[in-house]
Amino acid sequence: MTSALSDRSTDILARLTALRQADAPTHGGRVLSYVYDSGLAELDELAAEAIRIMQPVNGLDPTTFPSVAAMERDLVGFARRMLHGGDDVTGSVTSGGTESCLLAVKTARDVWRAAGGAGAPRLVAPVTVHAAFSKAAQYLGLDLDLVPVSADGQVAADALTARFGPDVALVVVSAPAYPHASLDPIAAVAAAAQAAGIACHVDACIGGWVLPWWSPDDPLPTWDFAAPGVTSISADLHKFGYAPKGASVLLHRGRDRHRAQYFATRRWPGYPVVNATMLGSKSAGALAAAWAIVERLGESGFAELAASCRRSTDAVTTAIDAIDGLRVVGSPVGPLCAVATDESLPAQRRVDPHHWADRVRSHGWLLQLQPGHLQSDGSRLPHTTHLTITPVTESVLPDLVAALRTAADEVRGVPAVTADDVLGALPVGFGDVLGSLANRSRPIDSAEASALLAGIGIRSGGALPERMAPLLALLESLPAPLTERLLVELLAGLVDP
Ligand SMILES: *Cc1c(COP(=O)(O)O)cnc(C)c1O
Repeated sequence: MTSALSDRSTDILARLTALRQADAPTHGGRVLSYVYDSGLAELDELAAEAIRIMQPVNGLDPTTFPSVAAMERDLVGFARRMLHGGDDVTGSVTSGGTESCLLAVKTARDVWRAAGGAGAPRLVAPVTVHAAFSKAAQYLGLDLDLVPVSADGQVAADALTARFGPDVALVVVSAPAYPHASLDPIAAVAAAAQAAGIACHVDACIGGWVLPWWSPDDPLPTWDFAAPGVTSISADLHKFGYAPKGASVLLHRGRDRHRAQYFATRRWPGYPVVNATMLGSKSAGALAAAWAIVERLGESGFAELAASCRRSTDAVTTAIDAIDGLRVVGSPVGPLCAVATDESLPAQRRVDPHHWADRVRSHGWLLQLQPGHLQSDGSRLPHTTHLTITPVTESVLPDLVAALRTAADEVRGVPAVTADDVLGALPVGFGDVLGSLANRSRPIDSAEASALLAGIGIRSGGALPERMAPLLALLESLPAPLTERLLVELLAGLVDP
């Protein structure tokens, strides 16, 4: 294939290959977040060829390119059967989980307004709901009402339903929630939402394509359209649908609800615009890759991959629970979990999950550090380390478990980095700068933010430190708006030419 290319093009592709050397490995199971490796090389080849065929097709207009509608219809149909939706369930393929979540919120907001809702609508959800809903609330003008969860990440149905009122446009529950893999009390919340006339979205972005086959012998509590009152569900194809990034499904119960997701206008001098999703022009490549993979796997293929994830998840969580000083948080449902320190043990036997993640990384495995979180009721969720298990994990299981054990042995008894540690280690005068920022109405600008980052050892455009535990502790101890501004500066600096 590359033989048809000129030398210049070949050189350009070589540069791309070289750029990838710096990236975390997307295959092989060493990265336990971000990537979802089926372990089946054929699926990657199939997806690449599907993208190649459909790459130039514009998903903007399924009337000009009927292939787009055909693939989308198949995917929506498959997802509807998988999620126990009846004939009244329909939906769209979107570019990813965030877009599905944004559109679920937009739809609920517009349905609420059409039913006479006025003012700012409210979105009720457990605090563990994905940050995409915080983004949606911010973008779309809803008040976000986050309900505290217990220490094991679980929320009580009545804690959510107690917040219901005429201004609530949407309640969101997750299957499961990303931080701790807790399965929210979906059936009870959906039933109460229906009685109150409130839309209920199930965020199954991560669980949607794996939970249907998770527990064939011991059914999970009802979490999909089989629960009356569930009005929409998001399920990401580019997670446990094993598709390349850029594909998710959003389903609605009720055609009119689905139609409320659309944007249409003929009030400009150009072509009439009708968009099911947020993007306009888009390649049909991601849709085609997802379609091809779902066609290839079918029910039985997904069931086999889910069974592999299940075996590996059980093995990993059992191994972690057996490590002195660590514990798996709550009762995770699905191929992911969070790990916290075991506070029932004396300090010298505890393992701090962030020191642990840093050590695991030095052994060649990438886990995801999650900060602690102060909830609105004053209770604190501990900082944790997140693992997502995929089918490829099974092929590296003994090595992974060995690395998890060894790393724990290496940091057992090392106390967690505290806010005082990190604030005390900051350059002299840093505290004064923070204080003056706090007392000032003008927001900090880019120059000030990059100076603050430099003060904590992060150069503009530079790499993150080898050890992430101190950085996480720092981010956790600074005021949230300042942390958020510094993170923006850090990421914006990466692409600033
Ligand atoms: C991944 C995820 C999202 C957001 O999806 P993106 O594909 O990253 O945009 C939303 N909710 C949950 C539960 C997720 O795991």
